[in-house]
Amino acid sequence: MSIKENLKNIKSSIPEHVTLVAVSKTKPVSDLMEAYHAGQRIFGENKIQEMANKFGDMPKDIEWHMIGHVQRNKVKYMADFVSLIHGVDNFKLLQEINKQAKKHNRIIDCLFQIKIASEDSKFGMSFEDASEILQSTKVLELKNIRITGVMGMATFTDDESQIKNEFNRLKFIFNALKALQIDNCKLQTISMGMSGDYPLAIECGSTMIRVGSSIFGLRNYSNKSN
Ligand SMILES: *Cc1c(COP(=O)(O)O)cnc(C)c1O
Repeated sequence: MSIKENLKNIKSSIPEHVTLVAVSKTKPVSDLMEAYHAGQRIFGENKIQEMANKFGDMPKDIEWHMIGHVQRNKVKYMADFVSLIHGVDNFKLLQEINKQAKKHNRIIDCLFQIKIASEDSKFGMSFEDASEILQSTKVLELKNIRITGVMGMATFTDDESQIKNEFNRLKFIFNALKALQIDNCKLQTISMGMSGDYPLAIECGSTMIRVGSSIFGLRNYSNKSN
């Protein structure tokens, strides 16, 4: 099936309140343009340099989401255009995003990545880390960022009940952070669900899914390091 058909099928199967991020990492601009011509305007990448190159090559009415782990020293390469950073997992990173956003006179939306998977390889904060940052007075000084929600990745497993537990946990953490009622902080996004598990994620309360291979086909990593 074509990218256009894949997109259409996914779009028609998800509720309207759920945002679809087309994860285009490793894929050529021609594939992204096919999705663009089919109406897709939100793309997710996990490498800052790759995202910046694609930003340069593509129409300017696209929302670019950084979904990968972010190194502080590379924030500057996306600060002028990125719309949402999903993988914020520490306060120093938030400070750097704020500093770079300020240089461009922008406000950058950020999600707190929460560790819900059992694998050590997955990044993320605990609920305690996230609530401590949200409640700190230091975060109020960061006028050029906005924390708009949470993001999580479930364990890579066939065990659906485990995945469901992890998604439910993220939803629970989202509600608990929301209940803190921090001034100027409007939590609204729960980014969870990928090609293999997005229907389950939506059942568990996801408002934003990040889908790659079900749109663009399998990725070929044979000559890449990620
Ligand atoms: C690659 C990636 C996705 C998309 O994965 P698919 O299984 O191809 O849909 C989603 N989220 C993150 C953080 C990713 O790195």
